[in-house]
Amino acid sequence: MKILITGGSGFIGMHLANRLVGEGHYVRLVDYKPLPDYVDIVVDDMDFTCDLRILDNAMRAMEGIDVVYALAADMGGMGYISFHDWEILTNNMAINLNTARAAMYSGVERLFFSSSACVYPEGIQTTNKDILLMESDAWQGKPDTIYGVEKLAAEDIYYSLAGSTDIEVRIARFHNIYGPCCAWRGGREKAPAALCRKVAAAVLQDDKTIEIWGDGEQKRSFCFITDCLDMVEALMDEENDDHPLVAYPINIGSAEGVTINELVDMIELAAGVTLERVYIEGPQGVRSRNAVLESISQIFMPHQLPQTSLQQGIYVLYDWVSYECEQAYKKGESL
Ligand code: NAD
Repeated sequence: MKILITGGSGFIGMHLANRLVGEGHYVRLVDYKPLPDYVDIVVDDMDFTCDLRILDNAMRAMEGIDVVYALAADMGGMGYISFHDWEILTNNMAINLNTARAAMYSGVERLFFSSSACVYPEGIQTTNKDILLMESDAWQGKPDTIYGVEKLAAEDIYYSLAGSTDIEVRIARFHNIYGPCCAWRGGREKAPAALCRKVAAAVLQDDKTIEIWGDGEQKRSFCFITDCLDMVEALMDEENDDHPLVAYPINIGSAEGVTINELVDMIELAAGVTLERVYIEGPQGVRSRNAVLESISQIFMPHQLPQTSLQQGIYVLYDWVSYECEQAYKKGESL
């Protein structure tokens, strides 16, 4: 099986590549930026000058390919997606249109698209109650960010691709995936890595405080990378075309909801410190969001869904982020 991963220098792409190479597949990675220097993976083919906003590049990437994992996107945490509407919309629409067109004109048999929990309507995620999001909730109103609007439109591009060709399309809505090798500084990092960095920096610099955006009572669920990939593989390997679920976008995430304050508690436990919390203004996204995982559970049957507890995953993430912070600190880089 010849597999293409777009966005292969990214966090999920590089973990997926490692796993697929380990399973014996031919893997080609494409991206428009190189792998970070802390990553060392060996694949059959890689091109880190492949800007998918250009159709020719997408066509070349798909030559001889059977299966595509379309992960390339201009994205980041709330600190990035709250302030880059124009870039996110135009870059990602171009990437997804070109990816779908190139798949259509080449011999691709199966394609996976990574959508996002950001597609769900802002209006149903405004209270502190536990908000459980089912896939059918998506088309009821405007998502909270342009990133979510674009993902919703892209879901339909790939859904229509499946309707117009023989390509088997699978679409997942990822809910906050985290783990080692994710972005941890520079502006695109998401809450778990950003908060691990803040705690690690406080430890290194003997600071007793941590800044948190908002009041810390915003709720989310976070899914560890290996659990995410187990679910992605189950979805991609589902052979029953008549399965009523595989043609539709499916939530992939964890159902363990926590507030940002509870997430900080877990990181402090991993670091062995307690910091004074300073609540400041900052982009927070919706008030409460969690994933209903009924659909992916049915596809995953008869196995149980993988469940790394958030505390277990945070131990692993904090270990990795604090090591990277230490290295950067020794070089005199700002954290
Ligand atoms: P990431 O930012 O680490 O990886 C995305 C990769 O796409 C980057 O390496 C980037 O360089 C590449 N890219 C961007 N523009 C490109 C272009 N024009 N041409 C080629 N490559 C380009 O993100 P990730 O966390 O690995 O996420 C992978 C996918 O999953 C993305 O589509 C993202 O929107 C989606 N997703 C992720 C999460 C999450 O929690 N990580 C949640 C929801 C959805």
